[in-house]
Amino acid sequence: MQRVTSLPADDKMCGWYHTSRPRKPRAPHSGQSKTRWAVVGAGYTGLAAARQLAVNFPDDEVVLIEAQEVGFGTSGRNAGFVIDLPHDIGADDYIGDIATAKSTLKLNLLGQTILRDLVSEHGIDCQMRASGKYQAAVEESGVAVLDAYRRGLDKLGQPYEVIEGKDLPAHIGTSFYRKALFTPGTLLVQPSALVKGLANCLPGNVSLYENTPITAVEYGEKIVLHHGNGCITADKLLLANNAFGTRFGFLPRAMLPVFLYASLTRPLTEAEQAQLGGKPFWGVIPADPFGSTVRRTHDNRILVRNSFSFNPDGRPKEQYLSRFADRHRLSFARRFPMLPDVDFEYTWSGSLALAHNHKGFFGQLAPNVYGALCCNGLGITRGTVTGTLLADWLAGKRSELIDFLLATSGPNKNPPEPFLSIGVNATLWWGQRKAGLES
Ligand SMILES: Cc1cc2nc3c(=O)[nH]c(=O)nc-3n(C[C@H](O)[C@H](O)[C@H](O)COP(=O)(O)OP(=O)(O)OC[C@H]3O[C@@H](n4cnc5c(N)ncnc54)[C@H](O)[C@@H]3O)c2cc1C
Repeated sequence: MQRVTSLPADDKMCGWYHTSRPRKPRAPHSGQSKTRWAVVGAGYTGLAAARQLAVNFPDDEVVLIEAQEVGFGTSGRNAGFVIDLPHDIGADDYIGDIATAKSTLKLNLLGQTILRDLVSEHGIDCQMRASGKYQAAVEESGVAVLDAYRRGLDKLGQPYEVIEGKDLPAHIGTSFYRKALFTPGTLLVQPSALVKGLANCLPGNVSLYENTPITAVEYGEKIVLHHGNGCITADKLLLANNAFGTRFGFLPRAMLPVFLYASLTRPLTEAEQAQLGGKPFWGVIPADPFGSTVRRTHDNRILVRNSFSFNPDGRPKEQYLSRFADRHRLSFARRFPMLPDVDFEYTWSGSLALAHNHKGFFGQLAPNVYGALCCNGLGITRGTVTGTLLADWLAGKRSELIDFLLATSGPNKNPPEPFLSIGVNATLWWGQRKAGLES
């Protein structure tokens, strides 16, 4: 029996969750049941996998199990950038090997298409807009990143527009940045509204159980998933629980639970919107990966996302929230001096699964156990497409993209503790320091 030694317990202050339409969670599982397919984790990956299994096997029941409430976990806590373009931070031009970049682009575009179609078919009210994104730089090093990425985009044949600092206020209000690269293919969403909406329109043969943390697993010819109030016996298990996959006994020390932090202001008044200027809806990602992501939302709030911590048990730590809320205030004040009286209404954290080599896992983990894990910070498109393709592969389908995913080496293993924490903390500390004004 494999005990699940740590369970998700996200903090209660996620602004996206509270400002999206309330949804009644489905009842927890209780008693004993049997199913052909069990999927653990109802974020983007698990929702996509369960949906596609249900489509591929219309006569089977698919059981989808979530420890918390849908929309409350990381999938509802992110910055809401549904990104099309590859961005390999290990490569000089951020594109790297062109064949890999082309496959990654195709995967991301397929993830976008799946989400766009579901949003339109089911009328999901998640403010999805094709607004593109600005990748913006303040520091000299950030400008160099934009120049390098431009070369990479040329190599990949993808469109972009360079916007000089003096022209940026007409786009995003602030004159804080020196330069930006606008790429048109990104969609922006209200992430919690999106995942809640995806859960509300699952096919009829998906049984979703929320607030049902799996606490132990028996592996073998049948998989038995235990929880506080019963168990579920499955022929096949799909793990879609990101870094918590390690707690089920797989990929130890390969998927690192790194926490990110975000704050959302109250809505700007009309006078404040006029003071800010620029377009009514936009998203900025930093040139330096350790910098700040900033958004102006559909309801005229400003989102600031920066700061990292390594929490090896995958659970949030109270002391970081207040510390990083102060940092968000500083980042906000630097960018928006014209909005001196705008406070944050929400500050929250969320966990990524990061791999040292930036690779995810896709495929078989053990007999009757499969996984799409470790989305490396871009899980909206990536989770959606890998969950879908995992279910297709299990239905015997093959495609160029499935072959690409199966051939990917997967996340690599890191050294044991205490070296792991020392190494990750040092990397995060140095990265954030180096980001300078971009944080
Ligand atoms: C602040 C922040 C900003 C981000 N910005 C972006 C962005 O702009 N664009 C983007 O693409 N990505 C972004 N990300 C990353 C993105 O949110 C993740 O990559 C994505 O959520 C991964 O989806 P997933 O379904 O694979 O995993 P998750 O969303 O982590 O879902 C896994 C689910 O498994 C459940 N689970 C775990 N253990 C158990 C168990 N024992 N029993 C039952 N259920 C369990 C969890 O409760 C969780 O809901 C951001 C993340 C953060 C934190």
